[in-house]
Amino acid sequence: MPAIIDGKAISAQIKDEVKERVSALKAEGTEVCLAVIQVGNDPASTVYVGNKKKACEYCGIRSESYELAEDTSEDDLIALIDRLNADKAVNGILVQLPLPSHINEDRVIMAIDPTKDVDGFSVNSVGALCIGRKGYRSCTPAGIIELLKRSNIDITGKECVVIGRSNIVGKPMALMMLQENATVTIAHSKTKDLPSVTKRADILIVAVGKPKMIKADFVKEGAVVIDVGIHRDENNKLCGDVDFDDVAPKCSYITPVPGGVGPMTIAMLMHNCVEGA
Ligand code: NDP
Repeated sequence: MPAIIDGKAISAQIKDEVKERVSALKAEGTEVCLAVIQVGNDPASTVYVGNKKKACEYCGIRSESYELAEDTSEDDLIALIDRLNADKAVNGILVQLPLPSHINEDRVIMAIDPTKDVDGFSVNSVGALCIGRKGYRSCTPAGIIELLKRSNIDITGKECVVIGRSNIVGKPMALMMLQENATVTIAHSKTKDLPSVTKRADILIVAVGKPKMIKADFVKEGAVVIDVGIHRDENNKLCGDVDFDDVAPKCSYITPVPGGVGPMTIAMLMHNCVEGA
C-alpha cells in the first residue's frame, strides 16, 4: 500500500511556523493583518471565509472582515480595495471568489495592490512566478510543493503531468513544478488519449474538477498522485478527482480527500500573510 501524504499534519506544522513568526514580529512591534472581503452570502464561500478567519486567529494574525451585500457594485468594491491598499496596517487583501456575476473578477483582482495580493492571483504575481522572480505564490499549488518537499519526494528530473490548466491551480502548478526542475506536461479537456499521457507521470497532479475520474488505468505503477479535487459523492461523502480506492494500490504516495491538499491552501495563505508583513 502507498504512503498517505498527511496534509492535515503538514498544514498544522506550517501554521505553527507562521504562528512563531507572527509572534516574533509582534515582539518587534509589527502586527500582521489580513482583510477578508466577501460579497453576498454563498454558503460555500461563508464556510471558506470562516475557516480562513479561524486560521488567522490560530496564527495570531488579525483579520478584518468585510461582508458586503450581493448587490454591491463593482465600483464600490474597488473603492473598498483602494482604501485597504492605502491602509498601512493591512498586509494582505483577500477577495473570496466567486464574485456575483455582475462583477468583473479580473478587474477586482487587478485592483489589489500586488504587495498585498496574498492569494497570488494577480497578473503581477503570476508573471513573477513565470519569470522566476520573488512574489506571492497561488496558495493551492504552493501547498502541493510543500506537501511533496516535506514528504521527501524528489522532484528534480521527474516526469510530472498536471491535469487542468486553470489560472488558480493547473497553470501555476505546472510553473512551480518546472521551477523545481520537473519535466512538465499539462493535460486538459482537449488532450487526446489522456491515460497514455498520465501514465508517463512519476508525479501526477489532478485538478480536473470531476469526481473520481482518475482510475487505476490512468496511473503508472509507483507514481506519486496528488488529488486537488473536492466534491461530494452520491453518499454525500467528500471525495476527490481521483478514485482513491482504485488508484491507491498502484501508488508510492497519494493524498487523501479530505485531509490532503485541502488544508494546505489555508496554511499557505497564512504563510503569504506573514511574508507580506
Ligand atoms: P476548473 O474547472 O477551472 O479547471 C478544470 C480543468 O480540468 C480545465 O483546465 C479543464 O480543461 C480540465 N478538464 C476538464 N475535463 C477534463 C477531461 N475530461 N480531461 C482532461 N482535462 C479536463 O477547476 P479548478 O482548477 O478551479 O479546480 C479543479 C478542482 O480542484 C476542483 O474540483 C476544485 O473544487 C478543486 N480545488 C480545490 C482546492 C483546494 O484547496 N483543495 C482549491 C481550488 C480548487 P479546459 O481548460 O480545456 O476546459
